[in-house]
Amino acid sequence: MTETPKTNLLGMTPVQLAEYFKKIGEKPFRATQVLKWMHQHGVESFDEMTNISKSLREKLTQQAEIREPEVVSQETSKDGTRKWVIRVEGGSCVETVLIPEGDRGTLCVSSQVGCSLNCSFCSTGKQGFNRNLTAAEIIGQVRIAIKSFGQMDPANKRVVTNVVMMGMGEPLMNFERVVSAMNLMMEDNAYGLSKRRVTLSTAGVVPAIDKLGEVTDVSLAVSLHAPNDELRDVLVPINKKYPIKELVAACNRYLEKLSDKRVITIEYTMMRGVNDHPEHARQLSKLLKTLPCKLNIIPFNPFPNSGYERPEAEAIELFKNTMHKAGIRTTVRRTRGEEIDAACGQLVGIVEDKTRRTAKLGRLAQQIVSKNLIATDSLAVQ
Ligand code: SAH
Repeated sequence: MTETPKTNLLGMTPVQLAEYFKKIGEKPFRATQVLKWMHQHGVESFDEMTNISKSLREKLTQQAEIREPEVVSQETSKDGTRKWVIRVEGGSCVETVLIPEGDRGTLCVSSQVGCSLNCSFCSTGKQGFNRNLTAAEIIGQVRIAIKSFGQMDPANKRVVTNVVMMGMGEPLMNFERVVSAMNLMMEDNAYGLSKRRVTLSTAGVVPAIDKLGEVTDVSLAVSLHAPNDELRDVLVPINKKYPIKELVAACNRYLEKLSDKRVITIEYTMMRGVNDHPEHARQLSKLLKTLPCKLNIIPFNPFPNSGYERPEAEAIELFKNTMHKAGIRTTVRRTRGEEIDAACGQLVGIVEDKTRRTAKLGRLAQQIVSKNLIATDSLAVQ
């Protein structure tokens, strides 16, 4: 007889958890208690839940579990940036990075192992798509980061003040699970972050942006990288399906649905001789006038055989000044955590797939280059 697998409660939203308790014949308010234990106290087992009766604790131990992904390594750089390599079910690894800055701590969270969008300058894209992370694996990254600072308590929790869904993967291609995990980030009985401090970054999956606006009101960042369709078709192939005009319209619709006044963060990874020309700046400023936004320039972080280079500092500065003059708020993302390979474009993920990616993996073995492009510091939302 095979044993029934235990239900993992870690990624469940308050509603799902209440349903679970109802299903096992318990009062739904148990959900709130268990949520707090899992996400505010960081407990590993039901035994630690002291305000729950012994019999219920035993029942839960038999039927359920609190399973977070496994930490393979944790490193902290001189500037305080902390990086975790996290092994998820099936053996693949993703990475999570915490970037502290003053009283802010921005956590960059992964949503998929690999990515299917194949942006030409992104090494995650080069590794192909492996699978979606579960909600438990996504929220588990937040729990792991906070717990790494010692006993989890409400004060300690402040080590993560902002979350950006800018790790590996395209979060809108893993819609339901990412939304569940973001709900937990914002849930008072879990991490209690404000909607302004949770940011989803997308390469521009237009219908999913509209769907997102129906179910949540997190902040939105868009990886634009080019001011015209001709160039964006090459850099971000999903543009062929959802061109810039449609993307900008979807962004405007998203902002209109919000109950407060916010702007879209436009990410622009800058590559020498590709999208850094003054003419690109001129086109971009014209385009961005049609959208309430701020621009975040990410100087390209090279990886082996990328075929792209980082522009000279002067070119970036000139581009930034052109945007400023056009009245567009612009920041240039600083590189953080370089010596632990935690900077934008330096993150390593490991995809384990016994089938079609085995050969590819072999080639990548010398230096694992499923580098993921994570960006964070200047992007953190106020
Ligand atoms: N798929 C989502 C989430 C990834 S976020 C998205 O595209 O927005 C990671 C950010 O880093 C994206 O803006 C991505 O375009 C950018 N990026 C990718 N490769 C990079 C590189 N080599 N150097 C700098 N930034 C890069």
